Amino acid sequence: MTKKQKRNLLYVLPLILLVATIVAFLLVGKFPFDKNNVIVNLNNESIIEIPLNQDKVAESEIVNENNNPAPEVNEEIVEEPMEEQEEKVTEAQDEERIAYLTFDDGPQPITEELLNILAEYNAKATFFMLEPQMVKHKEIVERMVEEGHTLALHGVSHDKKQFYASQFSVINEMRQSQQTVKDITNVETVIIRTPFGSSPHMTPSYKDAVKKEGFILWDWNVDSRDWQFRGPEYISHTLLQVEEVVNRGENPVILLHDLISTVDFITVLLDELVEMGFVFKNIDEDMEPIELK
Ligand SMILES: [Zn+2]
Repeated sequence: MTKKQKRNLLYVLPLILLVATIVAFLLVGKFPFDKNNVIVNLNNESIIEIPLNQDKVAESEIVNENNNPAPEVNEEIVEEPMEEQEEKVTEAQDEERIAYLTFDDGPQPITEELLNILAEYNAKATFFMLEPQMVKHKEIVERMVEEGHTLALHGVSHDKKQFYASQFSVINEMRQSQQTVKDITNVETVIIRTPFGSSPHMTPSYKDAVKKEGFILWDWNVDSRDWQFRGPEYISHTLLQVEEVVNRGENPVILLHDLISTVDFITVLLDELVEMGFVFKNIDEDMEPIELK
């Protein structure tokens, strides 16, 4: 190395050191890492600082278009779309149409087949049963409970004169049916429907009397007239009324019976109602009952 070269090196070395120091400062200045914060480039436009030691991130501010953020951040970002989905599912359930299928005068041997069909449709129904029929078909009554249907009372005699003779005859028949349900299933039901419906025999004083006894009186807003038609005609008759009821903003409560001719065509009715967006639920004690006027 010549003398001249040595002199040059003396000037150049501090210069290199100075440049290296400036570069180092620039680098540190551009990436100010903090132990508590990570910077994620989320959408190629904005850089957002996300505190890692915070459980909840203001999710509305984050748009996840970057698949490669810190894992903790990724979990938080995934949360929002899931919550949104859940909300949508809940909304769909709120909009769901509900039909209440009610079957009177059973149980009958055909009720077994009816229960098979209801199970296929994941349909719950309400059975307003006559006490002597329950005694005859205890195993069917038990099956109704196992399969989530509502047990309800329809009295003993199904005889207009006898049943409506007085407030006491009404209450006595319902009490007897109630006790039979309890003996068979250990279920205590207070949901009743009086034979041929509450109008005109259930006068205001009769109604008060059964309410005082703790019973909840139900009629219907769709009458299938299946017991008259005894054939598939009851389906169109029912569907017309269902449309009217829906237009009034009510849920259909459909009167049907445990009849062979009803069960023979019930899948046609259920298919039509499913097509209209209905699901089938059973009546419960918290519902506001439908009463004939
Ligand atoms: Zn009846």
